[in-house]
Amino acid sequence: MIKIRGLTKRYGDVEALRGIDLDVAPGEFLVVLGPSGAGKSTLLRCINRLCAPTEGEIHVDGSRVDAGGASLRRVRRKVAMIFQHYNVVPRLSVRKNVLTGRLGTMPAPLSWLQIFPRQDIEIAMECLRRVELDGKADLRTDTLSGGQKQRVGIARALAQQPRVILADEPVASLDPKTSRTVLTYLKQASRELGISVVCNLHQIDYAREFGERIVGVAGGRIVFDGGPDGLSADVLRRIYPGLEDDAACGGAPRARPATPPHSLTLEEA
Ligand code: ADP
Ligand code: MG
Repeated sequence: MIKIRGLTKRYGDVEALRGIDLDVAPGEFLVVLGPSGAGKSTLLRCINRLCAPTEGEIHVDGSRVDAGGASLRRVRRKVAMIFQHYNVVPRLSVRKNVLTGRLGTMPAPLSWLQIFPRQDIEIAMECLRRVELDGKADLRTDTLSGGQKQRVGIARALAQQPRVILADEPVASLDPKTSRTVLTYLKQASRELGISVVCNLHQIDYAREFGERIVGVAGGRIVFDGGPDGLSADVLRRIYPGLEDDAACGGAPRARPATPPHSLTLEEA
């Protein structure tokens, strides 16, 4: 479904991605795990061309993701996004937020007037049922909790009827219990609808719990690709450079106090 070859992305002197080769199968639920700055967001942004690769090729469902034209439009229709901060419109109802996932398929005048065909309203309600928020369809979205807003984000992505969902740290702003609920809905939708999901996470425990396949990224390179059982202490040290064993912790990897973004992640592990 996604095929990436030799992907490199430089921002001036910063090499955010250094020669990524990656294939994602149809319906696969893939977790990209890595510390802050590893290149996870850049990877997702290159897949739907929110940013232009410096080198390399990306194909989604057989179409090359190019600078513009029909091929890119085809790709963008097939690829939905889920964001860390939900990106819902607070004043709009839950239903209208989900309907914005349909805008790409509608004639422009209808979308300007926010007139939605009955069929699109039915699709939106079906997607809300999947995340068990159909009972809240008429509420203003700013009355919902963070976890519920992210479930709206999932329903909006599903309403696009995509082949691929790219989720960039979808639970980074949520508490652990809510995070697990949100990831459960996302994974379930992926399985039931056969949608490939690439989900960026920095939390090792969620990657272990939800990732069928985990790709570990560090310094812009893939340093691990395997199942959750493969996340040994050694592998974790590759993904999170700067880790050290702490014998007092039964050999569990811990971050040095001097590496704040990592320590948060690893204390949780
Ligand atoms: P992650 O999502 O894993 O935290 P990012 O993809 O955001 O990593 O960033 C990878 C590297 O690229 C970091 O060093 C970051 O500072 C740099 N970077 C990301 N976006 C930009 C940008 N727009 N301009 C310059 N540098 C960037
Ligand atoms: Mg990021």
